[in-house]
Amino acid sequence: MAENLNLFTSTQTIIKEALQKLGYDEAMYELLKEPLRMLQVRIPVRMDDGTVTVFTGYRAQHNDAVGPTKGGVRFHPNVTEEEVKALSMWMTLKAGIVDLPYGGGKGGVVCDPRQMSMGELERLSRGYVRATSQIVGPTKDIPAPDVFTNAQIMAWMMDEYSRMDEFNSPGFITGKPIVLGGSQGRDRATAQGVTIVIEQAAKRRDLEIKGARVVIQGFGNAGSFLAKFMNDLGAKVVGISDANGALYDPEGLDIDYLLDRRDSFGTVTNLFENTITNEELLELECDILVPAAIENQITAENAHNIKANIVVEAANGPTTSEATKILTERGVLLVPDVLASAGGVTVSYFEWVQNNQGYYWTEEEVNEKLYKKMVEAFDNIYNVAVSRKIDMRLAAYMVGVRKTAEASRFRGWV
Ligand code: GLU
Repeated sequence: MAENLNLFTSTQTIIKEALQKLGYDEAMYELLKEPLRMLQVRIPVRMDDGTVTVFTGYRAQHNDAVGPTKGGVRFHPNVTEEEVKALSMWMTLKAGIVDLPYGGGKGGVVCDPRQMSMGELERLSRGYVRATSQIVGPTKDIPAPDVFTNAQIMAWMMDEYSRMDEFNSPGFITGKPIVLGGSQGRDRATAQGVTIVIEQAAKRRDLEIKGARVVIQGFGNAGSFLAKFMNDLGAKVVGISDANGALYDPEGLDIDYLLDRRDSFGTVTNLFENTITNEELLELECDILVPAAIENQITAENAHNIKANIVVEAANGPTTSEATKILTERGVLLVPDVLASAGGVTVSYFEWVQNNQGYYWTEEEVNEKLYKKMVEAFDNIYNVAVSRKIDMRLAAYMVGVRKTAEASRFRGWV
């Protein structure tokens, strides 16, 4: 039988298993197997050539028993309704794992920002906020950056929301520029969180970060900052990639040079002739492999060929369930996406708290608080995995879903 590459149904399967292990009955699964709310919108945008393009967008709110829903908005040609639903469920899990007072939400627009001008992107961003304004807001559902959206897009969205609400609403959205109420450290928070869990995983495997060989798939926001952090810690980043191809140097790549040359979408390999494929990159000799790009990269096909001893998922859904099984059986320590990439939403929460209180923290304060959250989350999940003899993904789902399940029960929803 072909393995399941559908992110939505494979997420449902693990949520079901996690709820069963926690002792919940079928009714709880019925509540949590889909978002409570899913809005589809059509957004007409005047393009620079005078024509109008109507874009399709989504906003999913998985469950708001714990608090307002929270999660990014992605702008990508492959966005689908099912993907947005699955991503909103992962946000519930991430918020539960790092213990934030949120449920999960997620948004997306089917578009290709690489082909759009700044003016077109601004009109699309503002249009998305107008179209979803009924269900979002600082105490209802708080958007943030995701794939191909950034601080500038958050600024336009915040401005549009503030115009409609007739007052300045910085807490409506996170990932804003610092001058508009953004938090120190938010732009690098996901990579910072990944770095912290890599250090924790390495400790469990008696691996020194200094000199460790690291391969990173993807050179976007998470991948590029992570390459820098690993390099700064003395690790040898031997492989990186973008959507077009990958670079490999067993002696370690010149990360500062690559960071300097990458474009805003993380493209850099086109500047080199001597490239390898993304498939080859994943199977390189290394100690730590970090898929930080897209989903379904490690599958039953290539899981046997992965050489790394530690795999840390900085992307959402890069490893299939089948591949998770294979890697775990082979003794690879797999740190799942919902834990590894939770640094972004954690600092988003810090940003929202700072907006609500109107008092801003230093970068050291933010980093210290992030470190504490990530280490606690890692320890907690690692201990559940060891004591229950299950893989870290299932353990992370158990930890992540518990708070929302409990809150839903207390509210009398189930
Ligand atoms: N888009 C990021 C994620 O998937 C961040 C979400 C947020 O900051 O709310 O975790």
